[in-house]
Amino acid sequence: MESRILSSSSNSSHRSDGEGERERFCYCGLPSPRRTSWTRMNPGRRFYGCARYREGSKCKYFKWIDAKFSDRATEVYMDFVIRIILQIKSSYFKIQIIGERRGYFIR
Ligand SMILES: [Zn+2]
Repeated sequence: MESRILSSSSNSSHRSDGEGERERFCYCGLPSPRRTSWTRMNPGRRFYGCARYREGSKCKYFKWIDAKFSDRATEVYMDFVIRIILQIKSSYFKIQIIGERRGYFIR
C-alpha cells in the first residue's frame, strides 16, 4: 500500500496537462519561454515562443501548449475579461472625479 503511494508521487513528471513538461528550445538554441496568447481567437492559451522574439528575431519557433479552447470557452472568457475591464474603468473614473473635486488632476 505504502509503496504504491510512493511510486505514484514519483511519476508526477508523466502528467499530461503540460505543466510537467521539460524545457523547450527555439531555433536559436535558447530556452523557449512559456508565454500566454491574448489574441481575440486564443485568449489565455499558452505557447512556447522564441526567447528573442522582442528583439525582432527571425526565428519562427512557435508551439501551442494548451489545446484549442472551444468557441464557447473563448466567448465566456472574453465576456469575463470585458467585465473586469469595465469595472476597472468605472473605478478609475470614480477616482478621477473625486480627485478633480479635490483639485488633483490624475492623468
Ligand atoms: Zn529563437
